[in-house]
Amino acid sequence: MNSTTLLPQEGFSFREGLLHAEGVPIDRIAEQVGTPFYLYSSSAMEAAYQRFTAALTGLNAKVFYAMKANSNQAVVRSFAEWGAGSDVVSEGELRRALAAGVPGNRIVFAGVGKTQREMAFALEAGILQFNVESLPELEQLNQVALSMGRKAPVALRVNPNVDAQTHTKIATGRKADKFGIDLDHARTLYRDAQVMKGIAVEGLAVHIGSQLTRMEPFRDAFQRTADFYREMQAAGVPLLRLDLGGGLGVPYHHDQAPDLQRYAEIVKETTAGLGAELAFEPGRYLVASAGLLVTRVVFVKEERGRRFIIVDGAMNDLIRPTLYEAWHNIIPLRQADSGAELTPCDVVGPVCESGDFFAKERDLPPLKSGDLLALCDAGAYGSAMASNYNSRPLVPEVMVRGDEMAVVRPRQDYATMIAQDRLPGWLPALHN
Ligand SMILES: *Cc1c(COP(=O)(O)O)cnc(C)c1O
Repeated sequence: MNSTTLLPQEGFSFREGLLHAEGVPIDRIAEQVGTPFYLYSSSAMEAAYQRFTAALTGLNAKVFYAMKANSNQAVVRSFAEWGAGSDVVSEGELRRALAAGVPGNRIVFAGVGKTQREMAFALEAGILQFNVESLPELEQLNQVALSMGRKAPVALRVNPNVDAQTHTKIATGRKADKFGIDLDHARTLYRDAQVMKGIAVEGLAVHIGSQLTRMEPFRDAFQRTADFYREMQAAGVPLLRLDLGGGLGVPYHHDQAPDLQRYAEIVKETTAGLGAELAFEPGRYLVASAGLLVTRVVFVKEERGRRFIIVDGAMNDLIRPTLYEAWHNIIPLRQADSGAELTPCDVVGPVCESGDFFAKERDLPPLKSGDLLALCDAGAYGSAMASNYNSRPLVPEVMVRGDEMAVVRPRQDYATMIAQDRLPGWLPALHN
């Protein structure tokens, strides 16, 4: 490991040996809110968004931030301010997007299992597009829309049978994945959909997975989908919009950094002459590197020839390492001396699972109880996937912009967490 791998990402930098988020020293935030906590750089998010939209210059394109990556309303609201709509996958996300000020007509709704209630709520909200993934879903949506005297704007999400070459749990475009409709089947569904009185056929959608770092799968998927768009147009289907999904990855490790310019070129090449409005649903690309999880060393345990750095953050706060074998850079908030010796460490949390780790055999400088660490690139699928496992309260989220900081979600308190349970009537009441 050389010193460059210890360098933090955009929005974060060392000043006088102390890691800062934009203009704010992070140890000061730790004092104020306690550890662990998520920390976001608003400027880093904006820069990622501007890079993404700049790459699409010249295209008739709209960006819908995929809020499942990070659904904090401060984040959703920021992207809305910068001009993005939202891509949602549940009524909860739709409600959050609306609460964060995203207008209904800038929201697209994805997902294989929308319930009647969710459909009705989304119709009421006047969303731009439902991305439909099956015949039963199409029929159900038609029924719900008819019962409300409305027409549901629909894009069919196809499965182009392309392997995204990403982690298997986040690949969605292979034949065996639950997502999307086969192209052959989609031909029939477009015919069916056009005679449904509650359905307005408007688009075609594709999304083959997340954390794509290689561009060939995008090319294959976009080519197949654009060809299919042309075919359906020629067959008289009144398509307006081609939704190319999200999935652009970030360089967590020595992963090949995805090439945004190449991605944009592929879009331009494969959609040339379509005359379609394009839609994009980036999530991870916009937020991953703009966030850290800050955690404190509780103990350093040496046992059986291994060195365990036991920290106060855990898999319930950030599940990616154990769920996806994900690699997150880990850096001490106080910069190590340049000559500091690096020793292999397992960085683990206090949860009672052997899967509760952030890193295995990671070369780290000397650490002691009380030291603060940052897990890098934790802005996407971090806090959004957190749980209360082991009765650990959800950790706070802090956003920084220049010299300002804001707690955008306070730490859940024990009383709130515990008060969610109810005792059944057959147990004797507690007298305390
Ligand atoms: C998850 C998801 C996205 C966002 O994926 P990222 O890899 O975070 O960009 C976009 N569209 C759909 C349909 C999704 O399910």
